[in-house]
Amino acid sequence: MERVYNFSAGPSMLPLEVLEKAAKEMVNYGEAGMSVMEMSHRSKDFDNIIKEAEALFRELMNVPDNYKVLFLQGGGSTQFAMVPLNLMRNSKKADYIVTGQWAKKAMTEAKKFGDIRVAATSEPDVYTYIPKLSKEDFREDADYVYITANNTIYGTRYPYIPDTGDIPLVADMSSNILSQEYDISKFGLIFAGAQKNFGPAGLVVVAIREDLIGHAADNCPTMLNYKTQADNDSLYNTPPTYSIYIAKLVFEWVKSKGGVKAMQEINERKAAKLYDAIDSSSLFKCPVNKEDRSLMNVVFVTGDADLDKKFVAEAKAQGLVNLGGHRTVGGMRASIYNAMPEEGVDALIAFMNKFEAENK
Ligand SMILES: *Cc1c(COP(=O)(O)O)cnc(C)c1O
Repeated sequence: MERVYNFSAGPSMLPLEVLEKAAKEMVNYGEAGMSVMEMSHRSKDFDNIIKEAEALFRELMNVPDNYKVLFLQGGGSTQFAMVPLNLMRNSKKADYIVTGQWAKKAMTEAKKFGDIRVAATSEPDVYTYIPKLSKEDFREDADYVYITANNTIYGTRYPYIPDTGDIPLVADMSSNILSQEYDISKFGLIFAGAQKNFGPAGLVVVAIREDLIGHAADNCPTMLNYKTQADNDSLYNTPPTYSIYIAKLVFEWVKSKGGVKAMQEINERKAAKLYDAIDSSSLFKCPVNKEDRSLMNVVFVTGDADLDKKFVAEAKAQGLVNLGGHRTVGGMRASIYNAMPEEGVDALIAFMNKFEAENK
């Protein structure tokens, strides 16, 4: 069978060039005589891999020097606990903007550790927009403010970075890391699970401002303390070595394509085409507020659940797979991360036009 266009929200497509390179190096990496999977995490070869991965990530995301970059385990969800465990360092208060299920899960987890306030939520409107907030909306003594930069399930993203003054801003960028340029200095901490835009599930990358490290309580589990991970360059224990290697290959691929700026241009073009096709159709609708629409996850519906199911099934037969919306939302969702070629989006639009003509 041929490779399909996989519109899954995650784990999702990886660049074919990356998979082919990994396949070539699978049983024997360079001069090592062994697979990366079989290699000591303390070996020179692996040391080069993780150092290059970090250097590339720093370069691609323009991470300032006073930030540590960590490669950790436990996916995005473990950060929902690590963030409060480490960043609730003074008042033990934190303000959350709840723009979807991932933000809500993070907020619920943080409640175990301190005084959490929901600064705003778009839940009553089924998370179809991003609330506009400014400094006055946050508690002055909050230890941090938390956002989900891109809402994978609902297809929204922040079109702005909230001004939190001196309060560190934390952002979950799991579904849009490396897809658009960000000024990292506006954040105290960002994190991203790998499986949406740069690698295998389980791996998570964290960039944290150095002054935010070292404030966890004494009873913070060792592995969940950013200080442990920072002091040991992510090698306190055996890290997910193969996943870090794949991430490095993806970072190299992004760089070879012109970096994040070039990715952003392509992503804006891909998303604009798809949203235009939806907005100009009389069958499909996008429920998301226009200015808050995600570049990565494009949500749309026909308004008829049976017709949605038919669309997803017929698309699959054409090699356009995983177009069903999140199990809690229904409808359709096309996840068009960096690795989704523009031809995949064109093929989806052509199929949508055909489906609309046949189902008038
Ligand atoms: C997928 C996702 C997560 C959860 O990631 P896991 O690696 O499954 O824990 C968290 N936040 C966002 C925005 C996501 O898209």
